[in-house]
Amino acid sequence: MKRVFRDSRIQAPSYRRSLLAWYFHFAKDWPWRRGRIFPAISQAAHERTAYRSWVAETIFQQTRLTQGLPYFKRFLKLFPTVHHLARATEEAVLKAWEGLGYYARARHMREAASRIASGGGFPRDMAGWLALPGVGPYSASMLASVLDGASAPALDGNVRRVLARWFAVPAAYDASTRHAWQTMSANLIPPSAAWRLPAMAPIAQSAKHSITNSLSKWIISNPCGAWNEAVMELGQTFCAPRKPLCSACPVLHLCKARRSDPEKFPRPKSKKDVPHKMVVAGAVRRQDRWLVGCRAKGNMLAGLWEFPGGKMEPGETPEAALQRELFEELGVPARVGRRLGTIKHAYSHFTITLSLYEAVLPENSQPRNIKHEKIMWATRAQLDELPMPASDRRLIRMGCLDDRMIVG
Ligand code: SF4
Repeated sequence: MKRVFRDSRIQAPSYRRSLLAWYFHFAKDWPWRRGRIFPAISQAAHERTAYRSWVAETIFQQTRLTQGLPYFKRFLKLFPTVHHLARATEEAVLKAWEGLGYYARARHMREAASRIASGGGFPRDMAGWLALPGVGPYSASMLASVLDGASAPALDGNVRRVLARWFAVPAAYDASTRHAWQTMSANLIPPSAAWRLPAMAPIAQSAKHSITNSLSKWIISNPCGAWNEAVMELGQTFCAPRKPLCSACPVLHLCKARRSDPEKFPRPKSKKDVPHKMVVAGAVRRQDRWLVGCRAKGNMLAGLWEFPGGKMEPGETPEAALQRELFEELGVPARVGRRLGTIKHAYSHFTITLSLYEAVLPENSQPRNIKHEKIMWATRAQLDELPMPASDRRLIRMGCLDDRMIVG
């Protein structure tokens, strides 16, 4: 790693020059980048830009651009300012987030919005961002550099892949090498917002650049923020995990990995087996309503509405598992009927096979809420409105609730 440190220090000016020149010409004109001015001319201008940048940063943390873009647009329509978000119900925010996964992001955003709206506005430095719920070191660095010009390198998996290839880093990223990666990225970022790229002035005067005038001005005035975004954008465009487009890459002449096989970098961590769980759920129906429960606080997917059910124990049949789960969750013995549908679903640390069965409660029995935040009998239209886990939503979209069911 010593060689890597030395190379990243020595080559930093060349990387800055090449990458920022490329970014100046070809930065993507995403909606959250429009209207930026650095430094912000007023508190209101800072708040407008900060809100859009923060929403984008949160949505795109674990989500591909193509998948997240419609969510970003819809989110801004529903909650145009941080004050709208602060006043929204948790259910409304979760509904806007439905299908994006990692729902803690949405809950944290709403909580942070009410702090920002009732406090002194958006943070102006790393420490302020880090103090907000749901904001980790990567997002804090990105936001502090983009909004306020902090020389704070943003380092996530995408950026690590790019750096691993630039310097042919021999080590995988883990607890023992974390500090080394941070040092390497700190060597590269422009030292402050006052740092000026020598070759930028002639480029700025050329008519070649295709990006908006305001974004090009922002890039020139905020090289630290532009650097973090440029590295990230290189990783999203040319330096993809598979089949990187090296021949078109703006730092091809500097990159060490392209002399061998870029896909060998970064070195993969040893893979752990991903656990798989068999899960059963009950479509419990009375007249035109289905019983659903809101997952309790502190649990994964908290605040989302689901069909009651749970994991199968070893040796259990699906029917026995569902009967047990329904009794544990609702306090009434249920009759389990036909299987209505099965899907496979992947979460970040495990996968599930989820089967939905029809289930009938004894006549006149009153289910109790034992494990959920609350339960309700929801009409089909209400099910469409409630925020639900993607797995349950998929079962509904497959037509599992169509009128083939036993009515209890
Ligand atoms: S030359 Fe290839 S491997 Fe190197 S940074 Fe560019 S796209 Fe990535």
